[in-house]
Amino acid sequence: MPVDAPMPGSYGVRIPPWLAAEQATLPARITDRTERMRMVNRIAARNVEEGTGGPFAALVLDSDTGDVVSAGVNLVLSANVASAHAEVVALSLAQTRVGDWNLGTDPARPRALVGNAQPCVMCLGTLIWSGVKALDFSVPGFEVERITGFDEGPVPADWREQLEKRGIAVDTGLLQEECSTVLEDFRSRVAAGTITLYNGG
Ligand SMILES: [Zn+2]
Repeated sequence: MPVDAPMPGSYGVRIPPWLAAEQATLPARITDRTERMRMVNRIAARNVEEGTGGPFAALVLDSDTGDVVSAGVNLVLSANVASAHAEVVALSLAQTRVGDWNLGTDPARPRALVGNAQPCVMCLGTLIWSGVKALDFSVPGFEVERITGFDEGPVPADWREQLEKRGIAVDTGLLQEECSTVLEDFRSRVAAGTITLYNGG
């Protein structure tokens, strides 16, 4: 089928107004690991409630100080961009904010990505190229697939070793029950027909 619109000269992902408002109220610094995950999960839940995308959110922070660099959510549905996963959005916003594609240029200020779910195959790659030095996520990929029906893609079995050998520390499993509840809520809404399931988590 031919496309009616002219070829675009750019594309972009704009965060929804509710997330802009959330950003304004986020603490400048979150030092506690559990608090970071709680914040991520709260934003993921809001993304579902607002109908702006899938049940996923991510924060980029300075690993040591806890300074919040960016907050992203999954915007696949509202942006009509398949790659607009929470991790990609958070990392891209962080790169835009610091004015550098490489978030790892200063060894004294390592940065971390915190997400409510394990990165899919695409986000795993984006994470590796971003220069972050730590990953902290809650719900493992197989649980995301079981609960939501999303396809997380061919994530290699040795993903953790692959990250660690590139100097990216990995922590997992925090607040898994709370984070799973948000995924289950999303699944219920899909079943009820109030939100659409798309490809990839
Ligand atoms: Zn992803």
